[in-house]
Amino acid sequence: MRPIPAWASTAARWRTSAARPRRRKPRLGAPMIFLPTIGAAIMADYWFLWARCPACQTINAIDLRALDRHHDAAVTSLIPALSCCSCRPNAPFAKLVRLSRTSIADEMREEHRRRVLGE
Ligand SMILES: [Zn+2]
Repeated sequence: MRPIPAWASTAARWRTSAARPRRRKPRLGAPMIFLPTIGAAIMADYWFLWARCPACQTINAIDLRALDRHHDAAVTSLIPALSCCSCRPNAPFAKLVRLSRTSIADEMREEHRRRVLGE
């Protein structure tokens, strides 16, 4: 009988883990495990951070390039600063919607252009 190579147990582990059902994707609204830094978002050309006020559902976007924040800070560090002006003084923390390459105004212009051109 041939000796069992050292990597055999690793391969067996890989095989059993491949046969196991994969973990389900996190539910919508579940806390995000990984969030980019401000600098990473800017380098990837995702300049706009969209945030929604949970109280009045207003969505606002800020240009990350215009901020005077350290680029190694996570985008979540901006949440307290993004609280809604209309709901102050007791505004809830803003919910981050997404990082985007376009501002809300750009999206509205594009949507209007599509509507006018019938695309
Ligand atoms: Zn609000």
